Amino acid sequence: MLRRIRKKMRYLKRRVGSVQPHDIACYKKLPIIYTYDLPKGILGMFLPVGAKGVIYIRPDMPPEQEKFVLCHELFHAILKHQGVSMTSEENMYNPNWLQISRQEYEAHMGAACLLLDGFKVSETMSFSYISKITGCPERIVEKYFQLMPKRK
Ligand SMILES: [Zn+2]
Repeated sequence: MLRRIRKKMRYLKRRVGSVQPHDIACYKKLPIIYTYDLPKGILGMFLPVGAKGVIYIRPDMPPEQEKFVLCHELFHAILKHQGVSMTSEENMYNPNWLQISRQEYEAHMGAACLLLDGFKVSETMSFSYISKITGCPERIVEKYFQLMPKRK
């Protein structure tokens, strides 16, 4: 699963020439709508409409959080997820890996790939430190490195 997502991410990175989520959304012609008109506790939403879909983002998040939510919603679109996907604060910072839906899980791992690929990790770095400098929530950093085979 992670291998397929990482492959897609690297392809996009080459095509777009950037890992900035706004650049990728622009390349994919995905509209991003900033609105407070989202259900309570929801930070971002992906709505598949037409051939692609629309991304909704709460406008009042700190920049690092907004970036992660945007990367996450972007992967719902890239992976052609069906149905409405909503991301809550709880789902971002305290995901329950046993109960999370496959689509949410894939979008989290896609966002993690985008933010963490190529990041040089040393043994002494904590997940909390990596989270702070990349903007990827700590629990998601942890999961990503559990799944990712150690690079030699
Ligand atoms: Zn989601």
